[in-house]
Amino acid sequence: MNVLQDKVAVVTGGNSGIGRAIARAYHAEGARVFVTGRRQAQLDEVVAELGDRVTGIRCDVGRLDELDGLYATVTEQAGRIDVLVANAGIGIAASLGEITEEQVDAMFTTNVKGPLFTVQKALPLLSKGASIIFTGSSAASRPEPYLPVYGSTKAALRNLVRGLAHGAGAGGYRINMLSPGGTRTQGLLDLVPPDALAAAEATIPLGRLAEPEEIAAAAVFLASDASSYMNGSELAVDGGSAQI
Ligand code: NDP
Repeated sequence: MNVLQDKVAVVTGGNSGIGRAIARAYHAEGARVFVTGRRQAQLDEVVAELGDRVTGIRCDVGRLDELDGLYATVTEQAGRIDVLVANAGIGIAASLGEITEEQVDAMFTTNVKGPLFTVQKALPLLSKGASIIFTGSSAASRPEPYLPVYGSTKAALRNLVRGLAHGAGAGGYRINMLSPGGTRTQGLLDLVPPDALAAAEATIPLGRLAEPEEIAAAAVFLASDASSYMNGSELAVDGGSAQI
């Protein structure tokens, strides 16, 4: 049986990497999926790949007016949200001496403010018992040396998940954080030079990066009724990197 049959799911950053794998997995489990991102060509690719039960919507999660536009389309086409994955995120590699105000603002806007308003603006559409998932990172617990500020945005996100989890009963939702370790996506490969990546990979207890599908499998669990009593939790899928 498909565990997400007829559920309505929104996946921000669903046009690439981990988000795209999540969108694919939800679709395979029977969900109607809305994927978002800023790059139209990648959105078109996902729609072409998945075919039916998928809509691509261009939306910058840092822009409240664009979030309004996203939810106007979801309202029109589906009328509710059962699963909301605030996955869009960016990392910028820059040392303390190099990092600029613009880079810091971009990371906090996309990784913290974005997920907050992605949820706030969705509240009127959430069905009873809706599952909200934030994509965190093992860097929240174990900051990578080449990404000092990125880890702090994900640590802030973890605190936000716990804060919002207090409102779950009254709000009729549950909210959890899925924290991948290094995962083989274009985003990671563009960010980290090959030698730094090999060094980071060597520190992972399982000895390799995750594949996006391995993160998506956990996202299916968090979206499904199998995790119905989980709220305010962090689920690490990181090969043990942040645990030991
Ligand atoms: P990708 O770069 O492949 O994907 C990032 C996604 O976020 C894209 O779909 C991108 O779409 C979207 N995005 C970025 N900025 C915005 C924005 N302002 N508004 C809307 N969408 C945006 O990277 P990953 O798949 O690797 O990353 C996905 C998530 O997983 C991120 O939150 C990341 O921090 C997290 N993560 C990744 C890890 C890894 O090793 N890969 C490890 C731990 C966590 P577009 O560019 O079209 O806007």
